[in-house]
Amino acid sequence: MIVKIYIETYGCQMNFSDSELVGGLLTEAGVEVVDNLDDADGILLNTCAIRENAAEKIFHRVKQIGYAKRKRPDLRVGILGCLAQNLKEELLDDSGVVDFLVGPDGYRKLPELLRTAGHGPRLETELSRTETYTDIPSLRKSGVNAWVTIMRGCDNFCTFCVVPYSRGRERSRGADDIVSEVEGLAEAGFRQVTLLGQNVNSYGAAGESFSSLMRRVCDVDGIDRVRFTSPHPKDFPIELLELLADHPSACPHIHLPLQSGSDAVLRRMDRGYTYSEYSEVVARIRKIVPGASITTDLIAGFCGETEDEFAMTLQAIEEVRYVSAFTFAYSERKNTIASRRYEDDLSREIKHQRVARMAEVQRRVSNEIHKDCLGTVVDVLVEGASRKAATEAFGRDPRGVGVVFPVEIVEPGESVRVRITDTTTNTLIGERLDQPLIAAKGSGIGAHSAI
Ligand code: SF4
Repeated sequence: MIVKIYIETYGCQMNFSDSELVGGLLTEAGVEVVDNLDDADGILLNTCAIRENAAEKIFHRVKQIGYAKRKRPDLRVGILGCLAQNLKEELLDDSGVVDFLVGPDGYRKLPELLRTAGHGPRLETELSRTETYTDIPSLRKSGVNAWVTIMRGCDNFCTFCVVPYSRGRERSRGADDIVSEVEGLAEAGFRQVTLLGQNVNSYGAAGESFSSLMRRVCDVDGIDRVRFTSPHPKDFPIELLELLADHPSACPHIHLPLQSGSDAVLRRMDRGYTYSEYSEVVARIRKIVPGASITTDLIAGFCGETEDEFAMTLQAIEEVRYVSAFTFAYSERKNTIASRRYEDDLSREIKHQRVARMAEVQRRVSNEIHKDCLGTVVDVLVEGASRKAATEAFGRDPRGVGVVFPVEIVEPGESVRVRITDTTTNTLIGERLDQPLIAAKGSGIGAHSAI
């Protein structure tokens, strides 16, 4: 019988949010969630399947736990999340290290699995069309930002992506439940919420659209900043952009995954837009929310990507002028449409060279954008001490850009005005001003319109 559990989380923010959910569910069932494996009777690995190296990491970790289990044969081991859903039996090998696998829709079974673990391996990987866990309170550490999952799954079936198979089809939580969770977070002292979903702007429940839900969340007293991730470029109605432009709590930051600048590659990925349609969305954002930052995800080396097609992605970085980008080498995932339809024909070396070239162009663009901020004053929500020094605070401006400045005492949750005096590729460096910031939304930050 497991009474103390340690949860280790890998991958995207959805997984971290799911671990908070699992923590809440187990706490309600009388299991204590502890911060250290040495204090625990069992370990749950919440896993990611999105890229090859994420999967390799888990196999390596399971091996390590296997060594630990030789000394502690009663240690129970569960694998949760996308990799459990995708690889199933491959993770339940003969070594007997893993006691159970639970996919993202099976977490309600965890209390029973923990109670009965040790009597042969169990597999709970049925996907649901309705599960949103809306009644389960997440176990969160106190902090400045809270992640709030508003929808699960994805119906888009981009050919490279494993999410529709590992997390199932789209479903949304009721808006009233979400708003009351956010009200509770405000009461608990959180200053910012980030609405989460695989395809967050496809949210829709009982007549509530993503825009109307965003407005209700932005209106919650005590929550100063509202962000969301990750949206799909196809769902950006004018009313959402107007909300981002006008509401003091809506952050002018849009993560807009492009993946590739080539129409031919976008077609093979089945992304549902051309580069010119994507550029129209960018132009609309620049027009309606002029100070907004746009960030993105880019994949290099997708099946059949020619040098000319790849060059279009480099050109897109220059044209859109992203504040930052997550750049990845394509890695084929089991069960995806691309794995059945196309040959993964580019060498690892070419993929990694292309990722390095994308990152280099992006670094230059980020530097240029940040340099434009020199001398401006930004409103910073302090998240904690900077990684380098306890006498430096780290926070973010409304666009989501990291800002570091010297302080005597770091006060997470404090909102301060900072004049930017220096920049790096990823961070603005500044000095604190004393007066509270009274400025129009989007002011004090460079507008970086390129289209
Ligand atoms: S939109 Fe495409 S890339 Fe994003 S989760 Fe859905 S299938 Fe995957």
